[in-house]
Amino acid sequence: MHENPKLTIAIDGPSGSGKSSVSKEVARHFGLAYLDTGAMYRAATYRVLQLDIDLADQDAIGKAVREMPLVFGTNIKEEEILMGTTDIREEIRTERISGAVSAVASVPAVREYLIELQRWTINQAVNGIVAEGRDITTVVAPDADARILLTASEEVRMARRGLENTEKSGESGDLTQQISERDTQDSKVNNFMEAAPGVTLVDSSDLDFNETVSAVINAVNAQVKAKRQASRDASAGTETA
Ligand code: C5P
Repeated sequence: MHENPKLTIAIDGPSGSGKSSVSKEVARHFGLAYLDTGAMYRAATYRVLQLDIDLADQDAIGKAVREMPLVFGTNIKEEEILMGTTDIREEIRTERISGAVSAVASVPAVREYLIELQRWTINQAVNGIVAEGRDITTVVAPDADARILLTASEEVRMARRGLENTEKSGESGDLTQQISERDTQDSKVNNFMEAAPGVTLVDSSDLDFNETVSAVINAVNAQVKAKRQASRDASAGTETA
């Protein structure tokens, strides 16, 4: 019987593009695991702050992250993020972590270690995985079966983030500034505002959630179909050569 080959889907985008919720829904649709690489950088930041490390001390940050006792699940039905035995799923979403994460994520030793961990996690996924972040389409999994850059206009992204934070914390504090500073900081490390060659751009500015999910699923199907056709053409070429 023909078995479906493993499917790796890479999705990048800035904060507020709807990346996480859309990626999760896409993973559900295809029956895949889900890797939130932003949550990994957040967990690393939790560890650095827990150990009271100076954010300017890159050596100490690199060592702490390499040695952190992180348990990170990829099951879409049950998010699992533990530092040792402590459940840190809520803590990593706080402003304390959001305010420090760009500094930790810009340390080369941190990126090197987490990129390896992310590649390993992607390889471990038996049926395939949706991996999302800022550098998945370009650095972590440039050979993914489908690569998508999800964007939205700055205005729409800010409005979505504001709403999300209000719903979570019950506060309507102005986080616009912090988010746009984080995007500026993060853009120095990776260009996630423009699609690299071979990456499909999905602009969700004028789309609601379901429309965005459909647009991403259509883009994935189109890329997978094109890749399979290209590999059939290549093997037919080899046979006739
Ligand atoms: O996606 P999220 O907002 O949770 O990401 C948190 C932070 O993690 C980003 O602001 C960025 O500094 C870092 N990050 C990264 N590379 C990724 C994913 C996230 O540097 N692939």
